[in-house]
Amino acid sequence: MKMAETIALQNERALARLNRALPEIFPAPVLTHALARRFVPPMPRLAVDSYWRVHPVRADRLARALAATTGAPAGWSWRLASGRAKDLPATFRAPAAPYREKKYHLGPGFCCVCGQPVFAFGWHLDLWERGPNPKAQWHTACVTAWRLWNAPSDFVRVLRRVQQRRCAQTGGRLWRTAEVDHRVPLFRVWREHRDTPWPKLLDYWGLPNLQLINRDVHVEKCADEAGWRRRRASRTADDAVEV
Ligand SMILES: [Zn+2]
Repeated sequence: MKMAETIALQNERALARLNRALPEIFPAPVLTHALARRFVPPMPRLAVDSYWRVHPVRADRLARALAATTGAPAGWSWRLASGRAKDLPATFRAPAAPYREKKYHLGPGFCCVCGQPVFAFGWHLDLWERGPNPKAQWHTACVTAWRLWNAPSDFVRVLRRVQQRRCAQTGGRLWRTAEVDHRVPLFRVWREHRDTPWPKLLDYWGLPNLQLINRDVHVEKCADEAGWRRRRASRTADDAVEV
């Protein structure tokens, strides 16, 4: 059997399974996306996963919008792990996520990234009027957003498309070796912007602060940033001596 025939047969079976499992109400864009895949996802849940995986820009925007609906828990501030507080992020590179901390955890049925209820198939709206799914603690969209915030280098192709293949710093053509960069480096976010109210703080990990730039421009930017850190460190040392 030829490869094309094998895929066609596999898709026929997957489609039959998907149709059997599909609820009466299902998000139309997800279904359209699923049917257009080279390999049709055989289950509604996999269709939702696949949809968000290819739409990280939308996922990022949605996750931050959902978080804005929730707001930060009272008394929360962005802190890093120290001593016994093991549920805090170890580094400022990890996105600030109050609802992942034990103290502010919202429990089953609520997303640990944005704090909003999670419904069937990891969807963010209760299209089925069944209420939150007590087994879920992540929106499928928030899973993709979380991946983007933690490992933006895995999304080079998406950023290349968003920037229409132009270097975000010089406007010149993006080379194959272009690299992902945070416009405001995360060490500066931690030092200078850590009091930004959550979830506005998340913008520093999301699309608003991500850019794809050519490697030579990136090397130069990193050198400037290292210089700035050195100058700042020596200034802090001087201040300490003065005190
Ligand atoms: Zn969420």
